[in-house]
Amino acid sequence: MKNSETKILNNSRNTKDKLLFTPGPVTTSKTVKEAANIDLESNDSIFITYVKQIRERLLTLAHVESPEYESVIIPGSGTHGVESVISSAISSKGMLLNIVNGANGRRISKIARIHSIPLLEIIYNENQLPDFKEIESFLKKNRQITHVAAVHCETSSGLLNPIAEIGEICARYNKNFIVDALSTFGAYDISLKELNISYLISGSDKCIEGIPGFSYVLLKRSLLDECKYQVRSLSLDLYDQWLGLNTTGEFRFRPPVHALLAFNVALNELESEGGINGRAERYSVNNALLVGEMRELGFEMYLSAQMRSYIVTSFMFPHHPDFSFEKFYTHLNEKGLIISPGKINKSDCFRIANIGQLYPHDIQKLIDTIEGVLYDLKIELVEL
Ligand SMILES: *Cc1c(COP(=O)(O)O)cnc(C)c1O
Repeated sequence: MKNSETKILNNSRNTKDKLLFTPGPVTTSKTVKEAANIDLESNDSIFITYVKQIRERLLTLAHVESPEYESVIIPGSGTHGVESVISSAISSKGMLLNIVNGANGRRISKIARIHSIPLLEIIYNENQLPDFKEIESFLKKNRQITHVAAVHCETSSGLLNPIAEIGEICARYNKNFIVDALSTFGAYDISLKELNISYLISGSDKCIEGIPGFSYVLLKRSLLDECKYQVRSLSLDLYDQWLGLNTTGEFRFRPPVHALLAFNVALNELESEGGINGRAERYSVNNALLVGEMRELGFEMYLSAQMRSYIVTSFMFPHHPDFSFEKFYTHLNEKGLIISPGKINKSDCFRIANIGQLYPHDIQKLIDTIEGVLYDLKIELVEL
């Protein structure tokens, strides 16, 4: 552990950069950023080869391969990938059942409404796990449902949804399962086939630790035929995007060349860390340290332990009349450490993510700095 940590650190980060304890963009290695430091034409054969390899490597990470499964790169942020799937996959005669317990889930419904896609929602509190019986009863009562959507980690709170169980229900009722794995793919081992996932969406700049620029969709190839007839957007047309990549190997419109070059190196670095299991291990250690030390400082968590991911954690604002998140954030920012505001509707929280090129000593540095900032702001917390 110690050795590998030192090894990575030697070529690791730009020392002047701030540390991002945010759920994307994340702190990236110097070598990942350096890979983007080049001018390359988008139909250069080197670039086309990289894109092909990246698409294959993504499938391998999800334990599947072409031609049974396919991988499509969608330029833009994560939402572009999610919108590409929702707007391409579900016909006006079909229906989406969306399982919602946070802001990312609500966004999926918003996309469906904008594209006039028939929609049913099961809405839970933001600190509540879905009820499997209720999902089944929705599927029994509403035969027109063709697709079920769920968010793996609700990055808005840090809640981890039970996608294996939901996938099992989808398999039994023969529904297509759409998973927003934006904040988990690369750090949670997800087998598309075992979990019966029809479409998985993730992105370049979260747990794979690349730079922002694109998202990607991993899907069963047989579903592309259905997508072919549901064109609701030119730039987000999943079928047409796949067709371009699969025939000429080129993007239909200008690709995020630099983000893809950086991503290729990020995938190499994921591999050297021991793949998804290696990364999961580092993030889990980071998270356990964060949670344990924050609790010692007197912070309460928004979610109970069995709901939490090891990606991002929501902490309640301290019950102290003088606590101001803006001041707390600004003080930490001035010391080079960036945390995130909360995203829960009815609770006052802030969020700390422990993904990206962050190691236990970075978490410790954040904790020590938080302790100092609380002292400076004269906020005394009672140890829990
Ligand atoms: C990051 C993220 C998205 C996409 O957000 P963008 O700002 O568009 O990148 C969607 N869902 C989840 C769960 C996310 O973490």
